[in-house]
Amino acid sequence: MSRTLDHLLDQNVAWAAERTRTDPTYFLRMSEVQRPEYLWIGCSDSRVTANDVLKLDPGAVFVHRNIANVVHTSDLNILSVLEYAVDHLQVKHIILCGHYGCGGVERSLSEERGALLDHWLQPLTMLYRKHRGCIEAEGAHRVDRMCELNVEMQVRRLAATPIVEKAWSRGQELHLHGWIYAMHDGLLRDLGPHLSSRIERDALPTIDERALRPVTPQSMRLRQAIEVFSATSA
Ligand SMILES: [Zn+2]
Repeated sequence: MSRTLDHLLDQNVAWAAERTRTDPTYFLRMSEVQRPEYLWIGCSDSRVTANDVLKLDPGAVFVHRNIANVVHTSDLNILSVLEYAVDHLQVKHIILCGHYGCGGVERSLSEERGALLDHWLQPLTMLYRKHRGCIEAEGAHRVDRMCELNVEMQVRRLAATPIVEKAWSRGQELHLHGWIYAMHDGLLRDLGPHLSSRIERDALPTIDERALRPVTPQSMRLRQAIEVFSATSA
């Protein structure tokens, strides 16, 4: 096995050449100051990459990823990213995106303990234990249900950070979104909640209430199909 990764460096040369051929000013534009409108907080899973699933070029989305897309309010990494994105880049939207079949979420439902990862996943484990009955009632969908609940919980935690609170207090436009991605069809689902102010945040049902009332999030493709059906049957 080679100690170096020359094949990846070769691919990089080919990629840069292809980009320049199809778009001669691409790297000139990329070398300018970044002005992304979106902050993406997602899972470290190698199959969920923000730019790809959003079909956005580099420069359009600021990204933070960790296992199971957890917002720990003592995590200097996520807080630094959040502060920079909100205060300096002035992103208008924060997308908290989970995904179905998340290995981190699945681990939080198991009895395995002892790894550092289990400390990281503790908020999920606590939520699961509190609502074990209704999550287990989902049977084969128990992990996916927990993936959805995790997104909803993390949006709430994000909305409670002083960084987001201060932005709203000074009248800065900032919208939070909870989405979930499915590997099997490549589609994002808008799960919610959508939050644009402290008033909206404070009016939200608690995560414990939400655990008792599951909803099926819809992809844009399904929403479009429903709209077409409604228009033709009206
Ligand atoms: Zn994951």
